[in-house]
Amino acid sequence: MVKAGKPANVARPEGAGAVQRIELPNSLAVRQLAEALEVDVIDIIKRLMRNGIMANINQVLDFDTARAIVRGYGYEARLKPQPRAGQTRRQRPPSADKETLQPRPPVVTVMGHVDHGKTRLLDAIRQTNVMEGEAGGITQHIGAYQVTINGQKITFLDTPGHEAFTNMRAHGAQITDITILVVAADDGVMPQTQEAISHARAAGVPIVVAINKIDKPNANPDLVKQQLADAGLVVEEWGGDVICVPISAKEKLGIEELLENLLVVAEMEDLMADPSRPAIGVVIEARMDKAKGSLATVLVQSGTLRPGDTVVVGTTWGRVRALFNDQGKRVKKAEPATPIEILGLNSVPQAGDTLVTVPDDREAQALVERRKQDSQETSLAARGVNLHNLHDQISSGRVKELNVIIKTDVQGSLEPIRASLERLATDKVKVRIIHSGTGRVTESDVMLAIASKGLVLGFGVDSEEGAKRLAATRGVDIRHYNVIYSLIDEMDKALKGMLDPVYEEVVEGQAEVRAVFAAKGNKIAGVYVTQGKVSRGATLRVRRGAEVILEQGAVSSLKRFKDDVKEAVAGYECGIGIKDFNDVQVGDVLEFYKSQKVT
Ligand code: GDP
Repeated sequence: MVKAGKPANVARPEGAGAVQRIELPNSLAVRQLAEALEVDVIDIIKRLMRNGIMANINQVLDFDTARAIVRGYGYEARLKPQPRAGQTRRQRPPSADKETLQPRPPVVTVMGHVDHGKTRLLDAIRQTNVMEGEAGGITQHIGAYQVTINGQKITFLDTPGHEAFTNMRAHGAQITDITILVVAADDGVMPQTQEAISHARAAGVPIVVAINKIDKPNANPDLVKQQLADAGLVVEEWGGDVICVPISAKEKLGIEELLENLLVVAEMEDLMADPSRPAIGVVIEARMDKAKGSLATVLVQSGTLRPGDTVVVGTTWGRVRALFNDQGKRVKKAEPATPIEILGLNSVPQAGDTLVTVPDDREAQALVERRKQDSQETSLAARGVNLHNLHDQISSGRVKELNVIIKTDVQGSLEPIRASLERLATDKVKVRIIHSGTGRVTESDVMLAIASKGLVLGFGVDSEEGAKRLAATRGVDIRHYNVIYSLIDEMDKALKGMLDPVYEEVVEGQAEVRAVFAAKGNKIAGVYVTQGKVSRGATLRVRRGAEVILEQGAVSSLKRFKDDVKEAVAGYECGIGIKDFNDVQVGDVLEFYKSQKVT
């Protein structure tokens, strides 16, 4: 049953996590956008960079671009009527106006615990549509598809699960408007159900619950509703605001009702885009086809994509030679929220890459170059918070909310940790627990931390190998504790910037001892610098074969010929005296290092 006019069937994080509306003009400068959002302008510039737009703080952004950016902060933008049309970045016709904004289909993701019927539901939805007499036939799998219900379209992403969802977010692309949470009526809320809820909430995406497998004799939808309420999702029938539809993906029961309810949510979300502008989109999946070459499935987010358009996708580009829809049919255009397969890119992009349309090949190549150069910087800039840089990030206004994921050994540890952490909030920063659960720290936890710029705290548990690797490469801080007091104390100190600094060793250079001389009773090593540089200020280690003979030495003299020098670089010889160490031998290796504060 469709329930129009209810406030929101939306499960959102409390407080600042809730999606708020914001009115934006047709165009505005980056600085104005930062002021409107009360966020650091640098953060906005980084987000723009991640979307392939190189902007300074005075850069003027058009509404669609600003809208995409504010979404990342949990805001839904509306166009503010503007007396004077501003200059848009891409010199679009002054059409990017209210009249050109049109409602667009919602983009829906299916999440839930393994075996609860996500795949079967996606199949059932696809088939329902075919039975309705749609242009159907054999549906080609392109990673997403569209169905029509009551004359309105809905786009489904065909990769179910919160991992795919958060993977896209971690890549800087949030494309989902609504999540269907599938819960099997005979199994109830399970760990991955909990995870899916946390992942959707962290992204501020509304949840519609589908209680599946109601055909089963042991189905117990009421128990599921109870468990959902415990997890913070109170269904409408119990006075909450979460739409819940009983379904059977197997028997195809309740599918239409589910789709109708998605339309209700979509309407409340007021999803709009401007089909008259050049297309912007996100890659859902891409592959190399032996016969056709690079094929990329892209979700067009705004504008219209047409054959002949020149596009930059991630760090590749090309002229669109042909477009194929989800039925495998060649089409002339793809409008907002349409998944489309593109033929014509020069190489295979990555899922999550952004597509932008550019005027010509030259601009395409220039943008690709810029993106390549920036990708290194951006990946560094995009590093999340860690306990050591936290205070700086808070002071500079970059972090107002500390997103935390907690994993514990037993359920009983969660509550005291949660309560103590929430009490640590200061007037500058709130601690927000975006996910908690029992068990080891998983890749999915780390992915959520990346997507939400958060920290992972493990209490009485360790991390899976994959999680450690991912955390190391993406700069996510995972902390492990066994005593609640230590956890709280360290977090408290980090928030206040009182944590003892941690130092890491940075090797500056290496030298080989080729001769030993005696000078005023001291031995001088005649060395050849093999790597980097050796300098007076560095600490030095003496290695003899596999053994370390001296761990922390200091340079007492450094000479080239007879002259004192400050440093000598690779390829040069010099004489080195080591303070309070007279045992240097030919063949020893001297390693020079400095301790650097980890930030
Ligand atoms: P996923 O892991 O969430 O994608 O789950 P699947 O869609 O693969 O479904 C897992 C199992 O549950 C399969 O054997 C399905 O046939 C079965 N299943 C899915 N939906 C239903 C349903 O509505 N009723 C019944 N009885 N079985 C279902």
